Amino acid sequence: MVRLFHNSAPGRQQELVLREWEVLRDRLRRAASARVADAADIVRTAELLPGQGDGAARRDYVWALDAYQAAGKLLDEAADLPDLAAVVVLAERAVERLEMARARCEGRRMPAQLVRCFYNPLHGAARPVPVCTKRRRRPGPRQAAADRRPACEACRNAILAGQLPDVLPALLPVQEAKRRTVRVLVPYYSVPQQWSLWAATACGAYDEESPGLVLSGEHRRRASGREAVTGSSRGAVR
Ligand SMILES: [Zn+2]
Repeated sequence: MVRLFHNSAPGRQQELVLREWEVLRDRLRRAASARVADAADIVRTAELLPGQGDGAARRDYVWALDAYQAAGKLLDEAADLPDLAAVVVLAERAVERLEMARARCEGRRMPAQLVRCFYNPLHGAARPVPVCTKRRRRPGPRQAAADRRPACEACRNAILAGQLPDVLPALLPVQEAKRRTVRVLVPYYSVPQQWSLWAATACGAYDEESPGLVLSGEHRRRASGREAVTGSSRGAVR
């Protein structure tokens, strides 16, 4: 479980924040490299010949190649944990999309698309949200909070118990005083979207545009605009 530091972190506490971040970054970088290497083996052997497959199959195929290329680019340029999480997500989605293209070409049933946990897309599949029926009583506040976003079993249970789910953190500079900026770990989705490509898309899990945006350098443009923010933006879980 990652501890999120909501308050000012002078001296020793700031040191702890940065050390914890570095440990997470190194661990995640190893996982992301491995995932890109796995995807490389699959992408290398995937081929869609001219005239093969319908338009949808070709679109899936091109999207998969872009996602794989974007994952490799991000791995080289990653500055924070959500960038590395996005490497994993895009590499995995490239493989999933290739499988979809193949299924279309072969006329097979399409594989179900994986919906990832919003709180940490590295947790894998989200648990399906129970469908509202007349029988189901009106949800209470915790139930409503748990239903708000796709969540894995563990994150959903944490929310239902009134606890903080095991969120993916991001390192955010916070201006404490006129000349003092500290860095704090906050939930990645709390980072303002103009500073992070990943805050609204669960690290590329929920949108189709991420590969193209990464290849055009949008992730770097947004990250460079990340400036020290006032204490009001600190990492409360929304
Ligand atoms: Zn989760």
